[in-house]
Amino acid sequence: MKYYDKLIFDLSKEGRQGYSLPANKWQTSLSELPAGLLREQDPELPQVSELDVVRHYTNLSQMNFGVDSGFYPLGSCTMKYNPKINEEIASMPAFAGVHPLQPSYTVQGVLRVYKELAKALSAITGMAEFTLNPFAGAHGELTGLMIIRQYHISRGDLKRTRIIVPDSAHGTNPASAAVCGLEIVQVKSKANGLVDVEDLKPLLDDTIAGIMMTNPNTLGLFEKDIKEIAALVHECGGLLYYDGANMNPLMGVVRPGDMGFDVLHLNLHKTFSTPHGGGGPGAGPVGVAEHLIPYLPVPRVVEDEEGTLYVEDEDGQSCGRISGFMGNFGVLLRAYTYILMLGKQNVRMVGPLAVLGANYIKESLRDCYNLPIDSVCKHEFVFDGLLDQSTGVTTLDIAKRLLDYGFHAPTIYFPLLFHQSIMIEPTETESKETLDGFIEIMRHIAAEAASDPDSLKTAPHTTPVRRLDETTAARQPVLRYRDMNQI
Ligand SMILES: *Cc1c(COP(=O)(O)O)cnc(C)c1O
Repeated sequence: MKYYDKLIFDLSKEGRQGYSLPANKWQTSLSELPAGLLREQDPELPQVSELDVVRHYTNLSQMNFGVDSGFYPLGSCTMKYNPKINEEIASMPAFAGVHPLQPSYTVQGVLRVYKELAKALSAITGMAEFTLNPFAGAHGELTGLMIIRQYHISRGDLKRTRIIVPDSAHGTNPASAAVCGLEIVQVKSKANGLVDVEDLKPLLDDTIAGIMMTNPNTLGLFEKDIKEIAALVHECGGLLYYDGANMNPLMGVVRPGDMGFDVLHLNLHKTFSTPHGGGGPGAGPVGVAEHLIPYLPVPRVVEDEEGTLYVEDEDGQSCGRISGFMGNFGVLLRAYTYILMLGKQNVRMVGPLAVLGANYIKESLRDCYNLPIDSVCKHEFVFDGLLDQSTGVTTLDIAKRLLDYGFHAPTIYFPLLFHQSIMIEPTETESKETLDGFIEIMRHIAAEAASDPDSLKTAPHTTPVRRLDETTAARQPVLRYRDMNQI
């Protein structure tokens, strides 16, 4: 054990502190909390110097893994590099210091960023208008579905309470639909991983509110029949929802608006490079086609003839308010910076490079790993475990072993269509050398599976904690400090 593996509580020394405040000579309490809610005793915090605190958090941060410390090929999660200029802009006091209740004439620049980002996203996706208010992808889904419901209700079309979701969809799709009060109807995928149009046709009737599609889908495959699907769903009076969490492969190449989608959400914390992980903060802007603009949530940013921006809170036909104010502005600002830094020319490169990287890895490993769907992939693809399954080495073992070699594990056991799914997404921000390094290690692990399967079964060996009992870790997490000597 290294000295600093000790936790900060172990370093506590009575009376030691990392700050000093002037004595309160008025002896007053400035607390506005009612007396009954105040602590009776001081909290049991460690008493340590500033240096101890700095070392504690720095050491903790080094026990973690992030896209700034290594390659993070997490399929369906798009862990791409977050350029540091994004952080620089987001921490500018003029942006970081604003308050959501400031009068709009004092925050014209902030509102301009909101408006301009919405415009850029509209141009990239082919939608007519955006709300940037939702806080996450799933929140965007809920917002989009509320817009769809509001559309049907406003037309007196009250029977449309069912939504079609493919079996390959991200888990948040059916979950958001259920939260929105919609009944979920599943449409199957064919053996080639694409939505089965023949299975879809009999589902379409006057109770269908719409369909939620991901394209490329969660297998990284482009739904080639999208035009036909769009026509069929529209013909029956339903709307098309596009899950654009991972827009990488399309960016600058194809626009969901041109494929016939009526509503979509984007994950700025995936496609548009803002950091994510650990649950937030994120942003899930929702774009709509012309005919759905009236149903967008409030508040909205609107511009008068003189070019002055203000915040409109009026309800009208809107689906309502879905967030306290107007989204996670720091995240919006990072995405806007990212788009401006790339510029039109380079935005066009994102899709092709993301697709090239994924296909390069797939083709370089297919003689070691089982490729269940053999076609050109988009930004990500799925292996179904090792080609040689006789060693008993599982996807979990491979993922754990990767940690020993300094790579984050890919997404595993998702999608559910295969038993040993390993879902890999390199993103467009990685160099060929990094991809080659990953390929080399994946090949090495495949060789280890044959020569020394035990080293995989017991991996990881070099991480701060070894293999965990994941069920107990999830069900009975230890979230507070415990003296390890007394457990
Ligand atoms: C990540 C993701 C979501 C959900 O986004 P959150 O911000 O985690 O709520 C939805 N759909 C797809 C395809 C995703 O990859």
